[in-house]
Amino acid sequence: MTEESLVATTQRLQPQLLHHFMTLITENRLAHAYLFNGADGTGRQQLAQVIAMRLFCQNVTADGLPCGQCSECQRIMAGDHPDVVTVIPDGQRIKVDQVRYLKSEFTKSAVEGNQKIFIVDQVERMTTGAANSLLKFIEEPVGNTVALLLTANKNLILPTILSRTQIVDFLRVAPSALADALAAAGIAPSQRHLLATLTESVQAAKALTAEDWLKNAQTNVGQWFAAACAGDERAFVRVQTELLPLGTNRDLQGTVLDMVVQVWHDVLRQQNATVPTDQLAFPQVAKTSGEMAQRLSIEQLVAIMTLTLETRSQLAGNMNFQGILEALTLQILTQISR
Ligand SMILES: [Zn+2]
Repeated sequence: MTEESLVATTQRLQPQLLHHFMTLITENRLAHAYLFNGADGTGRQQLAQVIAMRLFCQNVTADGLPCGQCSECQRIMAGDHPDVVTVIPDGQRIKVDQVRYLKSEFTKSAVEGNQKIFIVDQVERMTTGAANSLLKFIEEPVGNTVALLLTANKNLILPTILSRTQIVDFLRVAPSALADALAAAGIAPSQRHLLATLTESVQAAKALTAEDWLKNAQTNVGQWFAAACAGDERAFVRVQTELLPLGTNRDLQGTVLDMVVQVWHDVLRQQNATVPTDQLAFPQVAKTSGEMAQRLSIEQLVAIMTLTLETRSQLAGNMNFQGILEALTLQILTQISR
């Protein structure tokens, strides 16, 4: 068996993101700084490398992909291209000399072409001082540079970096067995994506869809979301009448909170890319989440995402389900009206 090519691996792991970035490059719309937020195994490094290859490839395929064969592609894959600067931390921290190397590379113009690309993995391991010193280059890039900062956990990244990069979230790859089983179990396409974000077990997925619990929850969370986005105080009423009845036990309360995270995650994903409706966790409120992606600043969105992510630990800390949802609703309404 031959080894799967780097491009093929990326295609399998992140088909939408790959297509998105190849299109951006074709249309010459690539921004100069991105933060790739993806757990290990989601293909963040592979996508970064394929982007570098696409920028330099001498033989782009008819599908708009790098060929993987030409000398430029080969050198990039071998880590031996002077205009592709890659830093991977060795140990717990990105070392001072690695940062010095990055800074000196940032100030040099491209060696061979007019394009230069920086790939820094596990950027959360950079010290605050080192990260701040790199921001200058991110804000005032010299020549035609692209910085791809990679992390497995966006929550560990300095807000100053978050606010200066376009954040790209890599969804965990749903095991194909799960996707197939969900389809075979007759689960509607509109629910499959949501389910894949909530659970990795077919059994748990089936339990959630029993007696239309998931369908109702998806509708109700969507309606609460729409009311909150409209700045409508009736979002509080919806907490009482529509969200609370879903949480008949602690596990289901946790699942409702996870769904609240996912509906906001839909907004975040659309801020960076066009996401096909059937790839959203909440396709029925796609219009609203798309509008919010345009309307909210990244700071507002990160603040809201952080609030939603905190609800799980509040529940684990034995806070009351109703209290958690009401406080969250209030904070979101405040954040949106800024
Ligand atoms: Zn090539």
